[in-house]
Amino acid sequence: MSVGLIESGRSVGGRLATRRVGDGGLADHGAQFFTVRGETLQKHVEKWLALDLVYIWGTGWSDGSVKRTAGDGHPRYATRGGMNKLAKHLAGGLDIMLDRRILSLRQTADGWTLEDSEGDMHEGAGLILTPPMPETLALLARSGVDLHAEDLADLRRIRFGPCLCGIHEIDGEVELPEPGAVQNFQSDIYWVADNEAKGISQMTIVTSHANAKFSRQNWDASEEDIVRELESAVLPYLCAGAKIAHTQLKKWRHSVPLTTHPHECLLARDLPPLVFAGDAFGGRGRVEGAFMSGIAAGKTMVDALKL
Ligand SMILES: Cc1cc2nc3c(=O)[nH]c(=O)nc-3n(C[C@H](O)[C@H](O)[C@H](O)COP(=O)(O)OP(=O)(O)OC[C@H]3O[C@@H](n4cnc5c(N)ncnc54)[C@H](O)[C@@H]3O)c2cc1C
Repeated sequence: MSVGLIESGRSVGGRLATRRVGDGGLADHGAQFFTVRGETLQKHVEKWLALDLVYIWGTGWSDGSVKRTAGDGHPRYATRGGMNKLAKHLAGGLDIMLDRRILSLRQTADGWTLEDSEGDMHEGAGLILTPPMPETLALLARSGVDLHAEDLADLRRIRFGPCLCGIHEIDGEVELPEPGAVQNFQSDIYWVADNEAKGISQMTIVTSHANAKFSRQNWDASEEDIVRELESAVLPYLCAGAKIAHTQLKKWRHSVPLTTHPHECLLARDLPPLVFAGDAFGGRGRVEGAFMSGIAAGKTMVDALKL
C-alpha cells in the first residue's frame, strides 16, 4: 500500500524530544527513558542495543532521600545522543512531509481528504490519526466529522495531563544520585535529571518535570514564577560554587495520558477506514504504548482496507 506521513513538527519525534542547548549541550525534555514490558518491543530493543542506538541508563531512581539509589532491576533505556534519535532511526527511509499541520479532514466517497497548513490537499482510502486525543478530537470537531456516539464517548474518556518542564543550564557541576536522576512522586517537581551524567550532553544541562496537578495549577502563572519553582528543585543538587546560568521553560499541554483506552487502537464505526492510535491506547501509556499502538493501527488499517 502507498502510505503518506504528515507531521506538523519541523522534524520527527513528537514527545521523543531532545533540545540543543549552547555549544554541545543536549537535553531530553519529553520522554526521559523507556521501559519494556512486552516481547514485541523487547525484540526491537535487542536490535537497537546491538546497534548501540539505545543503552540501559539505569535500573531505578533515587527518590532523593539518604537511600541514594532505589534500583528495582528493570532496565530504563535511553538513546545515544538523546531520545529524539530513536524517532529519527524509526523514521529512516520513510517519506514524511514535515512542517505541515493537518487543519481539517473531509469524508469522501473513496475515503478521506485532508487539508494541511500549506493549503495542500491529500487523499487516501484510509486515515490513521495519532496526535494526543484532545488534539484529534478538536480536529474532528473543526472538520464536522460525525463519529458514532459510542466511539466519541470512548475517546472523550481519554484524559491527558500537562507537564511544566525546565531545561536548566548549569554553570559548574551538579551531583545527582547515580545514575544521574531523582524521581519522587511525592514532590510537585517529581523528576530532576542530569543530561551529562545520562551520557547525552557535553555540558551540564538538567531537566526538571512538574507533575500534572502542579502543572495544571500553575499553567497560567508567569514564566518567572514557574521557572523559580522548577529551579528550586534543582538547587539542592548543585555542587559548591555552581549556579543555574539559565532556564528554558517548555510547556507540554498533553504530556502523558492519565486515562487510556483499553484497546491498542480504535477503528471508527460507520465511516471510511479511520483508526485512532497513540500512547493513550492499550492501557500502557508511554513510549511502549505508543509503539504497540502504532503496530496495531497498521494491522487494523490493512484489514479494514481489504474488506
Ligand atoms: C514531559 C514528558 C515526559 C515523559 N516521560 C516519559 C518517560 O520517561 N517514559 C516514557 O515511556 N514515556 C514518557 N513520556 C511519554 C512519551 O513521550 C509518549 O508516550 C510517546 O512519545 C507518545 O508517542 P505518540 O506517537 O503517541 O505521540 P506524540 O509523540 O505526541 O506524536 C504525535 C505527533 O503528531 C503530531 N501532530 C499533532 N497534531 C498534528 C496535526 N494536526 N497535523 C500533523 N501532525 C500533528 C505532533 O507534532 C507529534 O509529532 C513523556 C512525555 C512527556 C511530554
